Amino acid sequence: MTRGYVTEMFSSFQGEGPYAGRRQVFLRFAGCPLSCFYCDTAYAREPRPKFCNLLRPDKKTRKRNPLSASEVLDCVKALLSPDLHSVCYTGGEPLTPSSAGFVKEIANAVKETGLRNFLETSGCSARAFASLADCFDFASVDIKLRGHQAVQGEDSYEALYRNELECVRIAVERGVETVVKVVVLKGTPAAEIEEICRDLSGFEFGLEERGRGREKGRGRGREKGRVKFVLQPVTAPRSGAVPSTEELFELSEVAGRFLRDVAVIPQVHKFLGVL
Ligand code: SF4
Repeated sequence: MTRGYVTEMFSSFQGEGPYAGRRQVFLRFAGCPLSCFYCDTAYAREPRPKFCNLLRPDKKTRKRNPLSASEVLDCVKALLSPDLHSVCYTGGEPLTPSSAGFVKEIANAVKETGLRNFLETSGCSARAFASLADCFDFASVDIKLRGHQAVQGEDSYEALYRNELECVRIAVERGVETVVKVVVLKGTPAAEIEEICRDLSGFEFGLEERGRGREKGRGRGREKGRVKFVLQPVTAPRSGAVPSTEELFELSEVAGRFLRDVAVIPQVHKFLGVL
């Protein structure tokens, strides 16, 4: 049985994107190869934390890492609530080489209980994503901009971008409900958003031609071929990085020229004061 490193497990409301406000059990996996300047979970980038915090409303306990998939499943069961939407696999980054197999084992076990799985990833590894995409009902893939400083150098940025796009292509093609999120900053070039949306539109319309845009994914009752595209204004760790309303209107309009499902959604968990 695979064992892996988890930073924390808790129940809360989804704070980002079109599923904001949905109740989820969060599994925050340890480690992340990127270094976004706005990262609000820097503590989860430590790849081998000694303990995993299990945060329940009534008490906080610690589990010694590395954990087995069955230990994680027991914690998921302890965190269930009647309003649950899905189990969210987040980070850090769940697709690191040391976490991907572990994530897959947990996701399969969770799926067998009848619960739905929701993956949040930076899209850093299309290979890892391909190996476990079928376990997931929802995938939210980030696309990093050059200004995020996620990686150093243009070659590394290009490699990351190609992986992110490939993750989206795989998710759409396999009928996983797909969210693409881009954190936007003051001064984010409209041309950069245009390039991303143009690339994404190739996946949407390619599928529409084959499936007339209403094809259901493998009998699971999902609409296939549609990307929910979210522009998320940065929750700035430093003043001056937040885009203006005028900038958000412009970026949203640029995206809308290429994609049909476009939204501007800030992080809402910060307003709710939850994790
Ligand atoms: S990908 Fe996520 S966890 Fe990793 S550095 Fe960026 S914001 Fe932080």
